[in-house]
Amino acid sequence: MLEQLKEDVYRANLDIVRHGLVLMTFGNVSGFDRASGLMVIKPSGVSYSDMTASDMVVTDLSGTVVEGAMNPSTDTPTHLALYKAFQGIGGVVHTHSTHATAWAQAGRAIPCLGTTHADYFYGPVPVTRRLTAEETEDDYEYNTGLVIAEALAGIDPKIMPAVLVNSHAPFTWGVTPATAVHIAVILEEVARMAALSVSIAPPEEIDRHLLDRHYLRKHGNSAYYGQKK
Ligand SMILES: [Zn+2]
Repeated sequence: MLEQLKEDVYRANLDIVRHGLVLMTFGNVSGFDRASGLMVIKPSGVSYSDMTASDMVVTDLSGTVVEGAMNPSTDTPTHLALYKAFQGIGGVVHTHSTHATAWAQAGRAIPCLGTTHADYFYGPVPVTRRLTAEETEDDYEYNTGLVIAEALAGIDPKIMPAVLVNSHAPFTWGVTPATAVHIAVILEEVARMAALSVSIAPPEEIDRHLLDRHYLRKHGNSAYYGQKK
């Protein structure tokens, strides 16, 4: 079942390690098949070197395992909440990559300071509010997904494919697991650059006209970056 998606999710999980976004097993990637309403996700706590594509776990939207011998990632309910909240996404990545996590721990959105950021994220990368004690005690992982959706309220998840969970770490998403990994890599670099800029001098946010020029030349109806398809 969903053999191609399992292969894609497996490779995407290896890629977050290859890109240096993951220490130990602090990370997970999932993929979602809208046609069947099923998600494929990394098994919980399994080392990346021992994992194979057939170890990927298939769950339905309620988190019930449909196929797979192992338990799915403990972050499964967060991934499911995001697939429910954001129509059109097909991949979710969670890492504790150092610089993006540093902003999450500071409880600060990543300001848009330059064109590298503007090429991918149409404005500051938002940070969620903190979870309440009740939200942490009961259904913690699902509530994490809900505060992410809350932080993105009124924002198109296509133009803002990332969020920082307060006191925790980033989540990114995309049309496919591979796209979500790409965004996670860029997010970490943008977070690193922003932290360096802030350490040099208090920076001003990018000018609106430059943000628009950079974001819109790569995305949307008037995009002209790259080759004609
Ligand atoms: Zn985490």
